[in-house]
Amino acid sequence: MKTFTNSINAFEEAVNLMPGGVNSPVRAFKSVNLNPIFVESGNGAVIRDIDGNEYIDYVLSWGPLILGHSHPDVVKAIQEQVAKGSSFGAPTLLENKLAEIVIERVPSVEMVRFVSSGTEATMAALRLARGFTGRDIILKFEGSYHGHGDSLLIKAGSGVATLGLPDSPGVPSDIAKNTMTVAYNDIDAVKVVFEKFGKQIAAVIVEPVAGNMGVVPPKPGFLEGLRDVTKEYGSLLIFDEVMTGFRVDYNCAQGYFGVTPDLTCLGKVVGGGLPVGAFGGRRDIMEHIAPAGPVYQAGTLSGNPLAMTAGIETLSRLTPESYEYFKTLGDMLENGIREAAQKFNIPHTVNRAGSMIGLFLTNEDVIDFASAKTSDLELFAEYYKLMAEEGIYLPPSQFEGLFISTAHTKEHIEKTIQAFNIVFEKLSR
Ligand code: PMP
Repeated sequence: MKTFTNSINAFEEAVNLMPGGVNSPVRAFKSVNLNPIFVESGNGAVIRDIDGNEYIDYVLSWGPLILGHSHPDVVKAIQEQVAKGSSFGAPTLLENKLAEIVIERVPSVEMVRFVSSGTEATMAALRLARGFTGRDIILKFEGSYHGHGDSLLIKAGSGVATLGLPDSPGVPSDIAKNTMTVAYNDIDAVKVVFEKFGKQIAAVIVEPVAGNMGVVPPKPGFLEGLRDVTKEYGSLLIFDEVMTGFRVDYNCAQGYFGVTPDLTCLGKVVGGGLPVGAFGGRRDIMEHIAPAGPVYQAGTLSGNPLAMTAGIETLSRLTPESYEYFKTLGDMLENGIREAAQKFNIPHTVNRAGSMIGLFLTNEDVIDFASAKTSDLELFAEYYKLMAEEGIYLPPSQFEGLFISTAHTKEHIEKTIQAFNIVFEKLSR
């Protein structure tokens, strides 16, 4: 049995210092009824908590650490940069370099602006879409999470879904009324909304693979349908690739599915574990951003040299072969989970997009938020705890996916599958 004394004591102190003891809600482990573990260090695919317990990590800081923790080359480059200065608030060559990589790899991006989080990227992309089209309405999908901007905290997934919070207090109704929502993967519902409001819709914002209601890939034709209908009505299509960018494929989800949006939001992997977000897209749209154009957006630490360095070093180490490797490991893990669940008669649906994997404890097909919510959340909490006991660190919520890094090996995956078998056997009794 693992002991968690130090984490328990640390959390007791933390709840008096920070709301809920954390700086981001899902870290509080509320939906799995556990004391959160406090992490001391990470190395490759493994993290160590402050009680000395080790885990194979499938959270990877919620996605960014696609090379695993403390990759030696990334660490070295950041150390070299910090010795030269950590921030200037003036242009650096590092920004040009990361911009070139992003523009080269992301099909829709002809120009890019760096920010410091995914939330900032989506907020700025919405303002840009509204400024460019002169329209106010945004269409988003139920159970999708696009950061905590006012316009986007409507029927949101991730922590909002995990904690069962409805639309957050503090979002003015005058703002909320401009956000419309329909079910993910329901292109017919999108068309109905467009028939009525199409000429007032500035943009549709979509996770090309939904990752904040668990993992839900797009049905064939869904993304293509969004592309067609937005074009027809002069609205913009925004892909929120904060999670999927450089994760689902070398050229992001848009490269993988062959659908090119007008604007793209990035975060997570693009910063390799340091705070970076980005939005980019068609040159004629991006040139509306200040100071090239009138739509205002700015940031003291935007394009920060340490963060740019982590992004450059991380993206430079990803090759098309990295994604082949993820596919091999992803296939192994997906099949292993499914076989274990079948063997012990555990309700399950496993969804997958590249190195994003989602296990739902339900036998229903999961294609949207309503079907995601058929998962057995009590069973999930039990399963979560037992997996942690076996040394497997998973996202502490049913509505999040598992991630794999280049530091994960076949041995890690085999050990993880073994843990699934042990845990499902216990749950089947
Ligand atoms: N969009 C998506 C698709 C996300 O998954 C997230 C974060 N999980 C965000 C936006 C917000 O990013 P951040 O937490 O960096 O603000």
